[in-house]
Amino acid sequence: MIQPTEDGFYGEFGGAFVPEMLHANVEELRNNYKRILDSREFKEELGDLLKNYVGRPTPLYKASNLSAYFGANIYLKREDLNHTGAHKINNALGQILLARMMGKTHIIAETGAGQHGVAAATASALMGMPCKVFMGEIDIERQAPNVARMKMLGSEVIAATSGSKTLKDATNEAIRYWIGHPDTYYLIGSVVGPHPYPDLVARLQAVISKEIEEQLTHEVGVERPDYVVACVGGGSNAAGAFYHFIEDEQVKLVAVEAAGKGVESGESAATYQLGSLGIIHGNQTLVMQTGEGQIIEPYSISAGLDYPGIGPMLAHLLSTGRCEALSATDEEALQAALLLTQQEGIIPALESAHAIAALERLPLKPTDIVVVNLSGRGDKDLATYMKHFDL
Ligand SMILES: *Cc1c(COP(=O)(O)O)cnc(C)c1O
Repeated sequence: MIQPTEDGFYGEFGGAFVPEMLHANVEELRNNYKRILDSREFKEELGDLLKNYVGRPTPLYKASNLSAYFGANIYLKREDLNHTGAHKINNALGQILLARMMGKTHIIAETGAGQHGVAAATASALMGMPCKVFMGEIDIERQAPNVARMKMLGSEVIAATSGSKTLKDATNEAIRYWIGHPDTYYLIGSVVGPHPYPDLVARLQAVISKEIEEQLTHEVGVERPDYVVACVGGGSNAAGAFYHFIEDEQVKLVAVEAAGKGVESGESAATYQLGSLGIIHGNQTLVMQTGEGQIIEPYSISAGLDYPGIGPMLAHLLSTGRCEALSATDEEALQAALLLTQQEGIIPALESAHAIAALERLPLKPTDIVVVNLSGRGDKDLATYMKHFDL
């Protein structure tokens, strides 16, 4: 099991870089999360919700047409079939149970594309907890359907109007609010943020690799996959898909970043390839930044991959060579989405299409077992598909 040090480091990445005023909050979470996650009460309640509310286990589907196309055995881990359409609900439900067991009664979250906002609003509705979602003013305009979902679910969407009016500004506002309201629970949506969030979210998403392992053993009859491939924004679906395979060096782990209009184009979100050591969202990791440490606004056609940092665990796995970084451009992701749709009848999220696009870059053999984590479904991306495919 991959574990950060006591103060939250994976190699040189991680830690908790928070204002003095937040130390007590972060410390409270750090002192409680492992005990609660390991308790029977938590496991039973989350297990029941994952099964009966989310619809887990998600299938491990052998994509025969895609397998013939790529010349290897391609299996899709169908996170797109989860309630709310992606893996983010696994984390949101886990954290809201944790919040309740810590005696918290109010939830705050921040969101860029709105997908984590929807997952947090869903979990909050289910638990009957009031939820405030901080979101950049520009993102509120760009992501109207998700804003409507959050409101319908009963959450309050609060516009961040400072700076570039996008995700990092929403994060700043959420943190500012948290300082003033230490009784609230801050529900972070990926393997980012100050320790213990990266470890907490990785543990909650690890259900993905746990199921893959069991399904390969019992349904496919193989001991391990040759490759596990996942797209990377902050890194939570990748962390979840890799988690139980990290110690098994025979399993190759492949993380696919969004190259946007090209890694060198100045418009991309390829953080591992372009980033340098810095501090973002309360942890030390690879960050897309200028020489002066100003965050560079990332770009990708897929809003969920549009993040200027990368979770510290992933940064560590990538820089030690345990995990390989590939990337796919907007155009490659669009073509891969069309390919999957027409070969298998599955319309993927644009984020997940990046993982499919990268298959072309792998030196696949006919005997290889390749698991692609299909992190989400494409309903939310239909307007983009309509525009680009002239539908
Ligand atoms: C949010 C999102 C991602 C990216 O986030 P990670 O934390 O890197 O997993 C990927 N796919 C989908 C469908 C998403 O909604």
